[in-house]
Amino acid sequence: MKKIAFYGKGGIGKSTTAANVSAALAEKGYSVCQIGCDPKNDSTRLLLGKVCSETVLDVVKKFEDEVAIDQVVHTGFAGVKCVEAGGPEPGIGCAGRGIIVALEKLKKLQAMTKEDVVLYDVLGDVVCGGFAVPIREGYATDIYIVSSGELMSLYAANNIAKGIARFAERGTVRLGGIIGNSRNIRNEQELLETFATKLNTKLIAFIPRDQMVHQAEINRKTVIEWANQSEQACIYKGLADLLMDNSALTVPTPLSFETLEELVLEYGNE
Ligand code: ADP
Ligand code: MG
Repeated sequence: MKKIAFYGKGGIGKSTTAANVSAALAEKGYSVCQIGCDPKNDSTRLLLGKVCSETVLDVVKKFEDEVAIDQVVHTGFAGVKCVEAGGPEPGIGCAGRGIIVALEKLKKLQAMTKEDVVLYDVLGDVVCGGFAVPIREGYATDIYIVSSGELMSLYAANNIAKGIARFAERGTVRLGGIIGNSRNIRNEQELLETFATKLNTKLIAFIPRDQMVHQAEINRKTVIEWANQSEQACIYKGLADLLMDNSALTVPTPLSFETLEELVLEYGNE
């Protein structure tokens, strides 16, 4: 079983990329489960065609020990199993705690034992206790960081790399690469390539910013479903293949904030 996690700054494109990759893998015949670990609960929206209304936390709150697998695992496009960990109401409680409870519950239920691929979609602005759980507790072993060339996205990516480096010391978690999701920044791909090299990894994909993604999103679909033969869909399919074949997993070497700033300046002013 491939145990993959996508981390990255909020709004950078983790869920969109994850849902398209899951859809592409399912189309190729793999059994896939995508688990949203973001209090936004919208990780699987494009796969389900709606925002998941029954998160693990919601169901656990209501039924406690009586929870059945099919109450928390929902079937989406091409049979992708969709789970949302859930989170507290905005303003109350700790979002990270929700992930801990949800992942423990899924483990207890043995909800993901037969899948070829489990993909965790995790908010990575802060790698606080709860959000580190997928990497700290060995739920995911192959970590990918989704980032654009914007400074704050790279800053979040670098912080996530610090978390991976820490947990790699005593576990099997490794960095699989950077997934560039373009924001049309000047020299963005080159900047991301250099950033990845300095981090002791590689830019495994560079996904263009494309109106098609928006079009598919407003129709509640992945690009894979909405425009299967489009160039953008082919890019997601290519990324899906790379994730399955990647064996170049590394322990990252995070940068100082000053080095990061200099790097962004160098490419931005070129
Ligand atoms: P995250 O899960 O990291 O918070 P989302 O996947 O929800 O981010 O993406 C945020 C927004 O960016 C969404 O409206 C999505 O459609 C858009 N988006 C993501 N990737 C692309 C892309 N490659 N081209 C165009 N729009 C994109
Ligand atoms: Mg998301």
